[in-house]
Amino acid sequence: MKSVKKYLTMNKRRLFAVLLLLAVVCSTNVVNAQLQPLPVDEAVRIGKLDNGLTYYIRHNDYPEHRANFYIAQRVGSMQEEEHQRGLAHFLEHMAFNGSEHFKGNGIIDYTRTLGVAFGPDLNAGTGFNHTVYHVNNVPTARQSALDSCLLILKDWSHGLLLEDDEIDKERGVIHQEWRTRPYQKRMLENMLPAVYPDSKYANRMIIGLMDVIDNFPYQALRDYYHKWYRPDNQALVIVGDVDVDHTEAMIRELFKDIPVDPNSPKVEPFPVPDNEEGIYFVNSDKEMAQNQVELMFKHDIIDREMKNSVNYLFINYMMDAMSTMLNGRFMEKMQEEDCPYLGARCSDGPYLIANTKDALAFSIVPKQGETEQALQAVMTELLRARQYGFTNTEYVRAQEELMSQLEQRYNERDKISNDEYGVEYYTNFLDGEPIVSIENEYAIMSQMVPNVPFEVINQTLQQILASAVADTDKNLVVVSYEADGEGAVHSTSESLKAAIDQARVTPIEAYVDDVKQEPLLAQLPKPGKITKKSVNTALGYTDLTLSNGARVMLKKTDFNQNEIKMFAIRRGGMSLYDEKDAASIKMMRAINSVVDLGGFNPSDISKALSGKQVGVSYTCDQYHDGLMGNSTVKDIETMFQLMYLNFTDMRKNESNFNKVMSQQGALLANLSSNLDAILFDSISNSVYNHDWRVRNMKIEDLPNVNLDRMVQIARESMANAADYTFIFTGSFDEETICPLIEQYVASLPSKKGKKSNWRNVANVSAGEVINHFDAKMETPKVQAYVVWHDETMPVSFETKVKAKILCDVLGKVYMQKIREDAGATYTVSTNYSAQMLGDTPMTVVEVLCPLKPDFTQQALDIINEEMLKACSNIDAGTINEIKEDLLKSYATHVKTNDYWTNVLLEYGTTGLDLYTGWEDIIRSQTPETISAFARQLVEGGNRVEVVMSPAE
Ligand SMILES: [Zn+2]
Repeated sequence: MKSVKKYLTMNKRRLFAVLLLLAVVCSTNVVNAQLQPLPVDEAVRIGKLDNGLTYYIRHNDYPEHRANFYIAQRVGSMQEEEHQRGLAHFLEHMAFNGSEHFKGNGIIDYTRTLGVAFGPDLNAGTGFNHTVYHVNNVPTARQSALDSCLLILKDWSHGLLLEDDEIDKERGVIHQEWRTRPYQKRMLENMLPAVYPDSKYANRMIIGLMDVIDNFPYQALRDYYHKWYRPDNQALVIVGDVDVDHTEAMIRELFKDIPVDPNSPKVEPFPVPDNEEGIYFVNSDKEMAQNQVELMFKHDIIDREMKNSVNYLFINYMMDAMSTMLNGRFMEKMQEEDCPYLGARCSDGPYLIANTKDALAFSIVPKQGETEQALQAVMTELLRARQYGFTNTEYVRAQEELMSQLEQRYNERDKISNDEYGVEYYTNFLDGEPIVSIENEYAIMSQMVPNVPFEVINQTLQQILASAVADTDKNLVVVSYEADGEGAVHSTSESLKAAIDQARVTPIEAYVDDVKQEPLLAQLPKPGKITKKSVNTALGYTDLTLSNGARVMLKKTDFNQNEIKMFAIRRGGMSLYDEKDAASIKMMRAINSVVDLGGFNPSDISKALSGKQVGVSYTCDQYHDGLMGNSTVKDIETMFQLMYLNFTDMRKNESNFNKVMSQQGALLANLSSNLDAILFDSISNSVYNHDWRVRNMKIEDLPNVNLDRMVQIARESMANAADYTFIFTGSFDEETICPLIEQYVASLPSKKGKKSNWRNVANVSAGEVINHFDAKMETPKVQAYVVWHDETMPVSFETKVKAKILCDVLGKVYMQKIREDAGATYTVSTNYSAQMLGDTPMTVVEVLCPLKPDFTQQALDIINEEMLKACSNIDAGTINEIKEDLLKSYATHVKTNDYWTNVLLEYGTTGLDLYTGWEDIIRSQTPETISAFARQLVEGGNRVEVVMSPAE
């Protein structure tokens, strides 16, 4: 189960200078408004039982006929004692292994009958200070099913059995989770003692100690559970198509008698002391792919009580504005060839994983070998802002950008999902983040923001910076994450400190904002015409032919009120080129970073687009190329203009190209030791006979990348509009979009007549391929990969459905046998695809499984035997559950713009209809149809097995 602190990734800013701001804005007429408490969203019912249990219930209809159930505990690994290290997370696993009303795997089995999948919908996560469980996407047609979900929450709250043999079985699963944990977690564990001196955070990594996991006495786990899982530490959140009164009555009935011992210990916060001396830490790992430096300035958190104020909302806005302006300056610096960093971003929020300390933080990606220079350069920008503040033009752009994002959220307010509300409410319980309706937030901010003069904002931000960024190293923390490849040269605490000190003594000049005032297109093109129009009723779209030969498909939807997606696609892609262009064509995905559009370099473009939610970029795969874009309703014309510039006026930008190449150089240098990259390479080489088009880019390829050639390929790609199908999906009116199409699409240059096509270059291995190899790794683990593939079955929706169902059948039994029974893996993933490689249809079912080394052969046997069993015999009940699940997820899926974009892309490029009859096709599947499909895959004899083992 995932242990990521999910809600921390939400855009949740905290303030640290409330009083400061108040002092500054007291002179303005907004002060009264700012002191007001925030009105709590009236649509959510919040209550508390006598035993301290808090609940949040909200009726919501997005998605339709579904509900989410959560229980959040404000305890995590920080509440463990030394002999319990790892047990908060262990307990979270045990929540699915037997409880009062759901014995054994009862919770998983029962929710599966509702079409709720273990993993995506039924899951939990453990953090340092919280543990959250959820049952999501429950169909709401039957009230009894919803009541049963409340019973699951009750069992989690108070009814776990924690039986001896179930505990023993889970030890292996957790040990395997530790073995396969990503290097980021290993690095976090490595640095905790250094960045949290004199704090319990130093020694409470969630996964814990394997010595504890393997050997702890049963009672240690039960003690943790009974001591900390109590109603006064818990909140229930129920959001969705539910009867609020009934749900509240049920909660009161079910939970009222859970006792709380009045002498129970309180959950105390664990402080993070200030550091007088700077903390400089170099953290290296062999599997790290890209060096990164984190520059942090610790500061106090805002008390819970102060968060529920308009003031808090406003200071969050100001901090966002500051981040936006600083990020803009970093972006602009990066245009200069000698800029030592490839990326830098500012944010303000929790200090790493603590909930008792915040930090103003800068994430920096240095160029290879320029870590110290990058750190110094970012520190210099920070000191520049502290000394001189910001400019009015920068602030206007930031304000437009932030208000435009807020307006977009407001316009989409009917589409706030159960998931979003769920996270918002348990975050309110855990951290005291305010619950304010988007209507109120929009109203408050629209009134306040224009009324606070730039001078006030600027002065306040300068004071905030002055208080956070001292002239000494007090509360300063620098962590450099460095790849530990062959011959890596690492920075040291001393060299990092010297960089900071150097920035402090170097004279700094004020920032000058260069703004290009011209419009994107100096002159509008002469419009062409729509020459033919027809309606496709099966797929519900309008088909247009333009005077320059381009084809347009228009699919108007009402799934989102403010979203328009564009695709311009043609047949071709990499298949049109030969291996001598391999390096350049593989870099084509980055073409928009290495060219100017018209007279605008990427930094000018980003300034010109501030306050607009719009983007267009080049895309290319083996058999297609073109442009993809998106916009809001108000910015649609800008999207057309960007598209037009891509087609007609790309100019190479040498300095950006050098920057991107150096970025790629750093990335690829480290990928050579990245285990996932090594595994992927071996798999694609084995399946596709070392086909250069499938292979990943390597560092040796970089010298062969040629900017002129890239620009030439892009020009060839977009020389003829008649090659193209333009697809628009989303909330537009034909009356508005058709004139734009005539203006910007029908006017594109074209050579009518011959249309581009792909070449048949597919090179798929035949028969059985076995590839076992060793790789050096930090924590020994095996990765086993098996794929069955077929190049004879037609690609169709039916084939996709069969492959998907077979994957789910296999996934369930693999999880049972390899994870639950043998404790030999943490997770098994099964995937499928069915797609055209040019004119070659390819259907794939694949299995990827990280393993305990001594279980490799048994696992491979299970993987193969269960596939063979599926060829003759599959349980009908299992098939029915999977079908229900598929029908449910499809019903949601077909109401998204992404889905329709894909349907039209496929129909537009190959004529294949992936929509019509989808429900009947899913319903008509039986154990026999799936077994027949499996037989065809297996009997074709095309099977690839790749096993990566630890080198001695
Ligand atoms: Zn876990």
